[in-house]
Amino acid sequence: MIRSAKRSTLLVTLAAIAALAGLPAFASKEKPVIGFSIDDLRVERWTRDRDYFVESAKGLGAEVNVQSADANEQRQISQIENLIAKKVDAIVIVPFNSKVLTNTVREAKKAGIKVISYDRLILNADVDAYISFDNVRVGALQAEGIVRVVPKGAYYLLGGAPTDNNAKLLREGQMQILKPYIDRGDIKLLGDQWVKDWNPEEALKIIENVLTRNANKVDAIIASNDGTAGGAIQALAAQKLAGKVAVSGQDAELAAARRVLAGTQTLTVYKPIHEIAAGAAKLAVQLVKGEKPAYNAQLDNGAKKVDSVLLTPTIITKDNVNLLVTDKFFTKEQLGIK
Ligand code: BGC
Repeated sequence: MIRSAKRSTLLVTLAAIAALAGLPAFASKEKPVIGFSIDDLRVERWTRDRDYFVESAKGLGAEVNVQSADANEQRQISQIENLIAKKVDAIVIVPFNSKVLTNTVREAKKAGIKVISYDRLILNADVDAYISFDNVRVGALQAEGIVRVVPKGAYYLLGGAPTDNNAKLLREGQMQILKPYIDRGDIKLLGDQWVKDWNPEEALKIIENVLTRNANKVDAIIASNDGTAGGAIQALAAQKLAGKVAVSGQDAELAAARRVLAGTQTLTVYKPIHEIAAGAAKLAVQLVKGEKPAYNAQLDNGAKKVDSVLLTPTIITKDNVNLLVTDKFFTKEQLGIK
């Protein structure tokens, strides 16, 4: 009793000293508190990220405070500032806008908080680590899957959000594959556009215009994720072209996996979310404890070479959709297969 009373007095004193010094709470090393700032929980995948992250962090003895900015730049900044004020031990961020967090990250670092960039790289900021899937590879898989079925023809490039660094990496990977076909004249690019906030309705409007402008003569659309692929396919369906124009995607969202089975979407790219979520939780806890995480890459974010973990994505077509079942991403019932 006496010993534990003494111990708690000591802890309170140390915590008070830490608070005065602007350091994270002392007890944190054993039970760290992690803030998880997510751009937009309205996109299907991010709810999985949240759930797996919270579960993994709990398993490591950490507590998580989740915030969703719903694609609002200012809201995300305020939410992160709030986490800093609460003196969490680490903040894991899925940035809405990769370019506007320089000062916010500086504030967090000044307060002794570890900062981890999740899925999307925060540019021009002193982040401690980055974890994602290899986005250049995702883009290459998208283009590879489409050129396999449409080696010659008229292509349209539907990019991701201009505020998301991933959109550029995806495009880089897509162009690595498409360039020789374009140079040979086998593929003709009808145009390209970024889709604000990755918004499916925006994608729908863009593709409606592309179809009108080209009198429906479009052979393939390289869409950068499943949400925008869904918008594009809706525009195609209105012209009775769904299934006749090749379309890519990414995320293995349920609706997209069903479209792949139905033949209206050529492919999606599967990224096992539990891997990135569990990896990020581990990274955060290791950094708080002063341990050295295992990295496999370094990405330049304009301010520094950021220690990174890049995970491997997998292409999904009609032929291997079953992988989503064996990997427990979906049940057979959800996909409507036997
Ligand atoms: C992610 C994708 C996601 C997109 C829209 C990207 O940064 O890598 O998985 O579909 O954002 O939320």
